[in-house]
Amino acid sequence: MPRYGMVIDLKRCVGCYACVMACKAENVTPANVFWNKVLVEEKGAYPNARLTFLPVLCNHCDNPPCETVCPTGATYRRPDGIVAVNQDKCMGCGYCVVACPYQQRTFNHKTAGYFPARGLTPLEEQGYKSHTRGTVTKCTLCVHRISQGRQPACVVACPARARIFGDLSDPGSEPSRLLGRRPAHRLLTGLNTGPAVYYIPE
Ligand code: SF4
Ligand code: SF4
Repeated sequence: MPRYGMVIDLKRCVGCYACVMACKAENVTPANVFWNKVLVEEKGAYPNARLTFLPVLCNHCDNPPCETVCPTGATYRRPDGIVAVNQDKCMGCGYCVVACPYQQRTFNHKTAGYFPARGLTPLEEQGYKSHTRGTVTKCTLCVHRISQGRQPACVVACPARARIFGDLSDPGSEPSRLLGRRPAHRLLTGLNTGPAVYYIPE
């Protein structure tokens, strides 16, 4: 059984937001919902100031607190490590939004479109069918693409090849080989969540 995960090389990330936009286009997330974000920090002082970028997404944790607190079983961890939400079971209590230490869950208050004065576009009308109002939503690791043998949209779109996706349980996979060569860290490991997203420091 694979254990899917991702390595993000912060030396390569140029903060272009292609991953953010690719995720939106692929998953047609509502205007108020972002499954992929790039956090920007300014370091240093003029004339040596610079920006650093930290792309963040659901970590598809080994021990996901969002699953533990879910009272209906809507959030569940698949055998391949992907943490998923069954929207038919989600009652919108929001416990998981509070429990996720990475702030990777969004309560879908309304399926807002990008052009409120003009109603939903045909794409939004179609895409929003999979974003049930009153439920909680988050990154699926593009499970629909993975099941077809394709890579997540954010990985394919990254022009810097900063995002490397694959099976972390396979020592010969691209992310495993990369982690064997380069030091990497995960976020908030002290919480014992077991994130499956690794960062190679800049
Ligand atoms: S990052 Fe948050 S939403 Fe994703 S699996 Fe971990 S606890 Fe759950
Ligand atoms: S697409 Fe790649 S380079 Fe651009 S912001 Fe995302 S991770 Fe960084």
